Amino acid sequence: MNSTSDILIVGAGLAGAQVAVSLRQGGYEGTVGIIGDEPHAPYDRPPLSKGYLRGEVGRPDLALKSDDFFGDTGVELVTGRTVTEINPADRMVTDDNGERFGYGQLVWAAGGSPRRLSIPGAELDGVLSLRSLTDADRIREAAGSARSAAIIGGGHIGLELAAAFRHWNVPVTVIEAQDRLLARVTCPIVSDYYHSLHRNAGVDVRLAAGVDELVGEDGRVCGAVLSDGSLLTADLVIVGIGLVPNIQPLARIGASCSNGVDVDSDGRTSIAGIFAVGDCANREHPYAGGSRVRLESVPNATEQAKIVANAILGQPQASPAPPWFWSHQYDTKLQTVGLLAGHDEAVVRGDIGSGKFSVVYLRNGVVIALDCINNVRDFARGKLLVQEGVRTTADAVRESADLKFILDSVGAA
Ligand code: FAD
Repeated sequence: MNSTSDILIVGAGLAGAQVAVSLRQGGYEGTVGIIGDEPHAPYDRPPLSKGYLRGEVGRPDLALKSDDFFGDTGVELVTGRTVTEINPADRMVTDDNGERFGYGQLVWAAGGSPRRLSIPGAELDGVLSLRSLTDADRIREAAGSARSAAIIGGGHIGLELAAAFRHWNVPVTVIEAQDRLLARVTCPIVSDYYHSLHRNAGVDVRLAAGVDELVGEDGRVCGAVLSDGSLLTADLVIVGIGLVPNIQPLARIGASCSNGVDVDSDGRTSIAGIFAVGDCANREHPYAGGSRVRLESVPNATEQAKIVANAILGQPQASPAPPWFWSHQYDTKLQTVGLLAGHDEAVVRGDIGSGKFSVVYLRNGVVIALDCINNVRDFARGKLLVQEGVRTTADAVRESADLKFILDSVGAA
């Protein structure tokens, strides 16, 4: 790599790769370098807990860009190096080999690392987490000989993993500290639906349950002591309790950080010449009334990367899109659009028992979010409802066959 890049991107994940792509698509002719700490070129993470884990998606299919991309576009990629220090006065970064790289502008795209458990036994063999391709390979290998597994954390990734264990016919227990699954991201109606889905698939779901200790034999995990004192047998434990944003070098140089590194509407941090994107960035979000949110999703990472590329190119920003997310568990496809925090009504459309329904979230009569379960049509229309901030009533939402008349009423269909 050049010792100095006009644009230096730290983190060879989705957001970092998308910044490089968008810069070149926008006609940027300066030098662009990417430094990533994994041994791989940028790849897609969502299949790691879905098709890749189950062996249905091959490794080559995970690549975000073809082998030719970097050569053809002159984007220089260095893998297997961790950036440990930033010196904003000299516009230099230093990696874990002590090598220094200069930058004109720096884009921090370092994502996050799995939150660790701080209980006795957390370091035993057989205690794993899932963020990277290496993690997914480890889980796949360990699952081959596991007699029973425990997943600590009932969020989307934990539940996708539970579905994979049932696919492999491995008995699995999900241990969730809250009194319902997915408590951080959805309403009780959707939580209950997912609880039934997993219970019917044979998952042992323990709610309002903590883990005090992991116990082992010969250095290998063999069980978990739960907060009620009971012992759960498991020779594979996956910890899925969230993400810690990778922002330490930025925090050390005094960048404003709260939940992640704070960025403005152009993705700029508080340090001159440094942008941040993706899972590590805490952005002012128009769909959160301008408050800061740190989102962990593919659409968010992609959108933020385009915003930063536009800011570097001096191009106008596109209108912000409503945030969205998806999850696949068994044959159930969830699509969520909008941010549901602060809703005062959750209106169900369709028959929950049929496995195809939506929940529309209203605040003061305005549609702010939808959870769509196996309901692609509601999701497509719902995106527009959220984008337009459509005002309606619970009855209208419930009774509308296809949400279209609500859109027609604002001329947005
Ligand atoms: P990352 O993709 O994590 O990339 C950051 C990169 O930077 C990593 O390679 C990291 O190792 C590297 N790095 C970190 N520190 C340094 C450093 N100091 N120096 C150099 N390199 C560094 N989103 C959805 O919308 N739908 C889904 O269904 C979905 N499923 C998911 C399933 C799994 C198992 C996971 C892990 C994530 C899933 N996501 C999903 C989230 C989505 O993948 C992330 O939001 C997205 O990858 C964020 O991109 P990013 O570039 O910000 O971070």
